[in-house]
Amino acid sequence: MSLPSVLDTIDHSLPEATDRLLELLRIPSISTDPAFKADCDRAADWLVEDLKTIGFDAAKRMTPGHPMVVAHAGTTGPHILFYGHYDVQPVDPLNLWDRDPFDPQVQDTAKGRVIRGRGSADDKGQLMTFIEACRAWKTVHGTLPGRITIFLEGEEESGSPSLIPFMQENAEELRSDIALICDTGMFDSKTPAIVTMLRGLSKCELTVHAANKDLHSGMFGGPAMNPIRVLTKILGTLHDDQGRVTIPGFYDDVEELPDAVRQQWQNLAFDHAAFLGDVDLSVPAGEQDRTPLEQIWSRPTAEINGIWGGYTGAGFKTVLPAEAHAKISFRLVSKMDPDKINNAFEAWFKAQLPADCSVEFKDVNGSPASVMSIDDPAFEKARKALSEEWGTEAAYVGAGGSIPIAGYFKDILGMDAMLIGFGRDDDQMHSPNEKYDVESFHKGIRSWARILDKLM
Ligand SMILES: [Zn+2]
Repeated sequence: MSLPSVLDTIDHSLPEATDRLLELLRIPSISTDPAFKADCDRAADWLVEDLKTIGFDAAKRMTPGHPMVVAHAGTTGPHILFYGHYDVQPVDPLNLWDRDPFDPQVQDTAKGRVIRGRGSADDKGQLMTFIEACRAWKTVHGTLPGRITIFLEGEEESGSPSLIPFMQENAEELRSDIALICDTGMFDSKTPAIVTMLRGLSKCELTVHAANKDLHSGMFGGPAMNPIRVLTKILGTLHDDQGRVTIPGFYDDVEELPDAVRQQWQNLAFDHAAFLGDVDLSVPAGEQDRTPLEQIWSRPTAEINGIWGGYTGAGFKTVLPAEAHAKISFRLVSKMDPDKINNAFEAWFKAQLPADCSVEFKDVNGSPASVMSIDDPAFEKARKALSEEWGTEAAYVGAGGSIPIAGYFKDILGMDAMLIGFGRDDDQMHSPNEKYDVESFHKGIRSWARILDKLM
């Protein structure tokens, strides 16, 4: 095979690849602000033209919002779908930028060379790693490896309103053997990662009602029940003293980690004390028998996100309020069903209510976790390719928050997604002075070439 020639081509053409990225970064494709609509369009056009130069059948596809870019190449072999997004976050506060966010530049810093500019890490720099890998492949082989579909969105930073309808309408065209998503980060600056678990979320708001009106504590204090007391008493037992959630059945659908994955996580360099220390905390609050990484990536949570009632203004009012409120959310893992969890919480809460209090639930909704089936050999192939490129064993990791696109690929197209990205913690995505390390860009391109070589 001529993978070495492809890697060589990538090394030699890095200056040109960087110039192309800088050109894309100069287009201020801020999706959330209508003032930049024409620029979003221009970014899509730029990508279509660029993809055509490397043999893709590429087109801008209109939606009610910003256009999608869809490009196909190859007719035989495994079919891979690559996803990225060309839109960027707004740039304010502008005065905190050291330079014009849309006049990108390669800079030398104490930590190495970086590409500075809005979108450099999120996600233009990342999506170009894949396109540049395809370009180098084409240069060496004259064709692209296997069937590749590139799918680029222009509304990721503004809630992806057109994404689901577009995927539904074009499901046949987009469905592939596996999806590759490049919009995440490395575990640390040396350790590449594939995100295979994304936690889901369910949530609700609740109101406890007691007396039929607000009461004076001088008149009713004592005999009358205070709904804030009811609310805090019940919510105070949501966790036991081992950090476990006490709702019956809460853990029923939580699967244990495969041993191999648990082992990988134990081998990752993660400073638990520093993790809490960074936010000025030191006492672990989660499940006592689980490591923090396990808790964040593979365990569910229950959190009280807001709680209010009675008088909270200036001064004082000795009120016994008629009602009390809270907002509650649950991070979900493995097979946990959001409806089942919300129902279990409601039943648990109601069972503890005093006889003449009532509770109302509203805004009850949720979405399940996404867990990729890593027994698909494609995952091990990609992990091996990443390990070879970075000289460090790549890890399967989880993500504590949600990345909706991965779930959409599964639900709408029935395919697993590999989330592989080369961002770093200090990239300042969504913040002033966003950057992407030149090393991430360069080795990211090389990583994709190695992954394509193994997958095709
Ligand atoms: Zn992104």
